[in-house]
Amino acid sequence: MNLNIKAREENTYDAIVVGTGISGGWSAKELTENGLETLVLERGRDVKHIDDYPTATLDPWELPPNDQVPYEERKHYEKQLRTGYTIRESTKHWWIRDTDQPYEERKRFDWIRGYHVGGRSIMWGRHSYRLSPMDFEANAREGIAVDWPIRYEDLEPWYSHVEKFAGICGEALGLPQLPDSEFLPPMELNCVEEALRESMAETFDRVLTTGRVANLTRSHQGRGSCMYRNLCSRGCPYGAYFSSNASTLPAAERTGNMTLRPHSIVNSVMYDEETGKATGVRVVDAESGEMYEYYARIIFLNASTVNSTSILMNSTSDRFPDGMGNDSGELGHNMMDHHFRVGANGEMDGFEDRYYYGRRPNGFYIPRFRNINGNDRDYLRGFGYQGSASREGWHRGVRELAIGSELKNLVSTPGKWTLGMTAFGEMLPDHSNRMWLNHDETDKWGQPTVVFDVEFKENEYKMREDMKNDAAEMLEAAGMKNVSTYDDAGGPGLGIHEMGTARMGRDPQTSVLGEWNQIHTVPNVFITDGSCMTSAACQNPSLTYMALSARAANYAAEQIKKGDL
Ligand SMILES: Cc1cc2nc3c(=O)[nH]c(=O)nc-3n(C[C@H](O)[C@H](O)[C@H](O)COP(=O)(O)OP(=O)(O)OC[C@H]3O[C@@H](n4cnc5c(N)ncnc54)[C@H](O)[C@@H]3O)c2cc1C
Ligand code: SF4
Repeated sequence: MNLNIKAREENTYDAIVVGTGISGGWSAKELTENGLETLVLERGRDVKHIDDYPTATLDPWELPPNDQVPYEERKHYEKQLRTGYTIRESTKHWWIRDTDQPYEERKRFDWIRGYHVGGRSIMWGRHSYRLSPMDFEANAREGIAVDWPIRYEDLEPWYSHVEKFAGICGEALGLPQLPDSEFLPPMELNCVEEALRESMAETFDRVLTTGRVANLTRSHQGRGSCMYRNLCSRGCPYGAYFSSNASTLPAAERTGNMTLRPHSIVNSVMYDEETGKATGVRVVDAESGEMYEYYARIIFLNASTVNSTSILMNSTSDRFPDGMGNDSGELGHNMMDHHFRVGANGEMDGFEDRYYYGRRPNGFYIPRFRNINGNDRDYLRGFGYQGSASREGWHRGVRELAIGSELKNLVSTPGKWTLGMTAFGEMLPDHSNRMWLNHDETDKWGQPTVVFDVEFKENEYKMREDMKNDAAEMLEAAGMKNVSTYDDAGGPGLGIHEMGTARMGRDPQTSVLGEWNQIHTVPNVFITDGSCMTSAACQNPSLTYMALSARAANYAAEQIKKGDL
């Protein structure tokens, strides 16, 4: 018996999915439900739904004061700490340690990551918005970068498909720039948000709506309804928000067709010059350091934008000396994110007799209103806002250094109403915004490290003026007091919506992927995470990755059934 042939047989599947985050979970679900034996490779540890959410039900007194990570530990999270909200004692286990996973920034780039089964689907903010027809047409209309090879109509049924399973709550508005989803009942706005909504409609003819989020407002698909605890970033024991762990991976598991292998760092994709196809992937076992090979007819790269692009860059051969599928030279270029942290805050009088119920894990959303009917600003594209209003709580008793009855009074009565909002703006694709690999600097698993050279450009900075001033103008028009503006962009990456480094396009000379997310020149490799995005729009992108993943996976399964792949 030839042992090599046997080993190869044992390591051969119909499909391989790399990564278990939002896009990988969807690829795994759709491929396995189509009957394909699928190996799902994840570089991090396993995270079992419910069992592995160790802090999900802890109360504040069971955690260190203010949920702070001890000072000596903070040095391990230098970059992950840049968000200001992600590294807490109750959540630090979801984030990589920067000391283990270094990268180089030619210009500041905030690469915020979690490596475990479920990826960032556990920690995401859950805002879920469709892109609109005008988002898919904008590049072609304005001569920016390259045209998307698909239009809204191509993705529309797949948005519906993923929304029906994931569960998105929200309000239908019929807006052309923000198509409606298949909604669960919306979460309520509070009275101050309602007041802003009415004022904006009256004064500016602009819309404010409740955030469209992947939290369940009623039981759905065997998962429980949200309990309004606002502790989602610790993992939800009720499965009341969409994550791979609670939703797509269990569905894939139920088919009996999924083999999940944690601790499996995919190093590269193997290529066969004769067939012009990929044969499988090379994997470094994160625990033993040993290298393995796995084979399949199709490969889905869903390791997140920067990691999928890194895998392609590391997959060199005589045919592809500069990285798999990189005939265009665009691999690693056109990095986008959303630019944000610009907006306004204010205080509202007149609602002192009103309060709200529970801790809503959501806020409001203001859909894009600039440059909708033609372009009348000195920049292209637009922005939306996310924000919320609330009443100050007992903390102000500490801040205001009260004592005695004054302190008792302060901590037992709600404080004033405040409202804050930040814009999320579209970043244009630009060839000069790029990442590449440094093979001389390797990480502790011997893998090359990433170098970023990405910056916001003139269009983004011009847009930020409107992002700031429009916010203040709307709050003032609603009668708010002490309105203040802020503008602190941070680095690209801080929006945690990195995209674009293996873009889709019509022409193999200028893009990496075609209309079905296949590498133009290696048709059995599909990439459906953010790296495929041809433009960023201003909406939070993950719902689009879900829809693209489901669409591509069903197409790939069909091609296999027809014998074309
Ligand atoms: C705090 C926070 C808030 C967010 N809020 C929102 C929001 O409101 N709305 C929204 O749309 N998006 C939001 N996002 C972004 C969202 O989380 C990402 O867009 C989404 O998770 C990307 O999905 P993905 O599958 O591409 O990558 P990920 O979810 O990051 O998953 C990638 C997986 O691949 C694995 N992997 C990486 N490299 C390898 C390798 N070499 N081999 C094997 N496995 C590998 C990783 O360990 C990981 O599990 C937020 C993100 C964060 C962190
Ligand atoms: S707020 Fe709702 S979705 Fe979030 S963790 Fe609590 S119950 Fe789950």
